[in-house]
Amino acid sequence: MNVSSLNIAPLTPVQLSGRSQSHLSEVFPGHYLHRDVVAPYLQLVDRASQEGIALRLASGFRPFDRQLAIWNAKALGERPVLDNTGQAVALGDMSERERVFAILRWSALPGASRHHWGSDMDIWDSASVSEHYRLQLTPGEYAVGGPFHSCSRFIDELIANGETSFFRPYSGRQTDGVAEEPWHLSFRPLASACEAGLTPEVVRELIANSDICLQGAILENLDEIYSRFIAVRY
Ligand SMILES: [Zn+2]
Repeated sequence: MNVSSLNIAPLTPVQLSGRSQSHLSEVFPGHYLHRDVVAPYLQLVDRASQEGIALRLASGFRPFDRQLAIWNAKALGERPVLDNTGQAVALGDMSERERVFAILRWSALPGASRHHWGSDMDIWDSASVSEHYRLQLTPGEYAVGGPFHSCSRFIDELIANGETSFFRPYSGRQTDGVAEEPWHLSFRPLASACEAGLTPEVVRELIANSDICLQGAILENLDEIYSRFIAVRY
């Protein structure tokens, strides 16, 4: 695909923060991507199928309200917060600042999730598991011996060979940021524009006007949150 021929309109702040769906198309029932990402995604699916891989979307677009519900449930102890090894951590023993950073390891700040843009998606391979398989999206599923290792290697090779415009923003190289997510792909031509548009000011105003748990601690630490978890360094 000729990336330079893409002419994607920049997203508005309301679209960037997942509070609008006007930039999306439905790929499959209940699964949405940015309208200009659907064709590249389906090309990737087609390319994967030539290798016997049935690439599927676990999650494409996710709205602000959904991310806010996840965040608040974790902050309130209604959903587990995991550490790097997948063990649940006890938020009750932590300061508010520590709680914010513990949640951010695995959950994006509402309004700053790359899943709001429609450029990003979580993928898996339905050909390598039974129809009853319960998808977990854990690193082990994509590692050697895991069911999606060949899918992950296929993606690795496409990226290494420069054969795709998708990339992995959460490679785990940034050890003080978001944990490694080998299932998470991002369509660079759109995502690069979104990264530039989602400024600290946009995020600050959104959080200040949201009904979000730990709001004070988020705003106090927003510069650090932005540099570690939002402005991803590849
Ligand atoms: Zn993801």
